[in-house]
Amino acid sequence: MSGNSVKILIIEDDKYIADFIALTLRQHDYACQTAASAAEGLFLYSANRPDIVLLDLGLPDRDGLEIIKEILDIKETPILIVSARGQEKEKVEALDAGADDYIAKPFHMGELMARIRVAQRKLARQSDTEESTYCLDNLKIDVLKRQVFVGEDEVHLTPLEYRLLIIMIRNRGRVLTHNFIAKEVWGYAETESAQTIRVVMANLRRKIEKESAKPRHILTEIGVGYRFADE
Ligand code: CA
Repeated sequence: MSGNSVKILIIEDDKYIADFIALTLRQHDYACQTAASAAEGLFLYSANRPDIVLLDLGLPDRDGLEIIKEILDIKETPILIVSARGQEKEKVEALDAGADDYIAKPFHMGELMARIRVAQRKLARQSDTEESTYCLDNLKIDVLKRQVFVGEDEVHLTPLEYRLLIIMIRNRGRVLTHNFIAKEVWGYAETESAQTIRVVMANLRRKIEKESAKPRHILTEIGVGYRFADE
């Protein structure tokens, strides 16, 4: 899949990295702009309304979290965080603030391209109406009837397991933090939420994964949360 007319804004103060990413994305038919500061990035965002934003968390002028909030206040936009190694706390905060995904430096361009394709699929889904059936590999979910099938067999999920599954599927491809999941499920997050989620996830895996020790769908993002595999 190529970029076609997808517009990407790269907010990154390391000129070498920014230019390299832009060059590669242009070769894949994405339209790119680069900004070396938060101020320039927000200006270009307002002026050109890119479809996807790549955001370096370590910018000289402003905090990355503020930029995420400002962008999302203007428009729901997939934001991919580019973080330095060791920025674990910032990474989780950025995801909680509404960023979609993160990639740690140094990264391979192939990995970045894969993350961008996930963001593109999210864009495509946003323009669709709510899906009433999901078919993902051997997993089939009929939302209207609240039925879940693995292959031909119907699987019985508790209401909590079902909600968790639907939340993950609607956000598939994205990294979901424990806080995000807790807020979606219970409306608030507590310190015990991560433990409760872990238990429910283990049960879900046992029910929907062929091999729960080698999950295909529900992937753990260590120290962060979970990701429902998108491909
Ligand atoms: Ca930087």
